[in-house]
Amino acid sequence: MSEDEIYMQRCLQLAANGIQGARPNPMVGAVIVANNRTIGEGYHVRCGQGHAEVNAFASVKPEDEALLKDATIYVSLEPCSHYGKTPPCADLIIKKGVKRVVVGCIDPFAEVQGRGVEKIRQTGIEVTVGVLEKECQWLNRRFFTYHSKHRPYIILKWAQTANGFIDNQGKALQISNEQTQMLSHQLRAEEDAILVGHTTESREHPQLTVRHWVGPNPKRVVLTHQRPLQQLIDDLYQQGIQSLIVEGGRQTHESFIEAGLWDEIRVETGAMTVSEGTLAPQLPTNVSLLSSEVYGDNNIKRYIKALE
Ligand SMILES: [Zn+2]
Repeated sequence: MSEDEIYMQRCLQLAANGIQGARPNPMVGAVIVANNRTIGEGYHVRCGQGHAEVNAFASVKPEDEALLKDATIYVSLEPCSHYGKTPPCADLIIKKGVKRVVVGCIDPFAEVQGRGVEKIRQTGIEVTVGVLEKECQWLNRRFFTYHSKHRPYIILKWAQTANGFIDNQGKALQISNEQTQMLSHQLRAEEDAILVGHTTESREHPQLTVRHWVGPNPKRVVLTHQRPLQQLIDDLYQQGIQSLIVEGGRQTHESFIEAGLWDEIRVETGAMTVSEGTLAPQLPTNVSLLSSEVYGDNNIKRYIKALE
């Protein structure tokens, strides 16, 4: 790893702390380095409050202020150039007079999109863009999908028996264990909305709330025959929903897969078997395995779309 990558890695670590508080803003981390020493760090804690850059500058000790003229500020996402709830970070960086700015990735938000970098460059400050770019984009995959595809980031999620059934002759099955249940609730606390199909809704009346983790409940959405999928997705976009977990039955999942409306698939497989039931949805052909983790007798495989 290069020095730039090491500090950008630290920005990513800091940024991830904002997973619950920052939204609908992106998670962003910033590190200020002078003479090979970190003199300031910060991340975007909560929407409406200071951005990562503001918090990083605020953490610089008075005796280190004089070092700023030789310092480099690392930011995982392009500094903003517009007046939102707070003034533009690009202006703050220029005012602070740092020597160099290193940016992880460009902000896809329509009001920024390169303008932050451009504004800083025009003053003669050196700007490097694209350090750990893929990692920086992945961290804010919900935000990126929302702003570039105009729909939420969609996670399809189901649990199946060892022999590939999702229920027992139409009756709900408890496949998840204590550990994976906690993970499911963590996921719910981190995503904006959760959807079930009308069959699951009327058969199981699932609560779809966060009980085994601490955090907000996701917005509850039910897919009915009266609501075509694309219309529903457009509505969620209009409502500012950046991510959606789909915990449907086979039909619901397959309608998302057929429409190409998915970004991630999480399949939990338990050790139990049943002799008859509803078969798990068919995985699309264009998947690439992202991770495979074991939790007791269960495992969770995560898939993303394979690169075309
Ligand atoms: Zn900003």
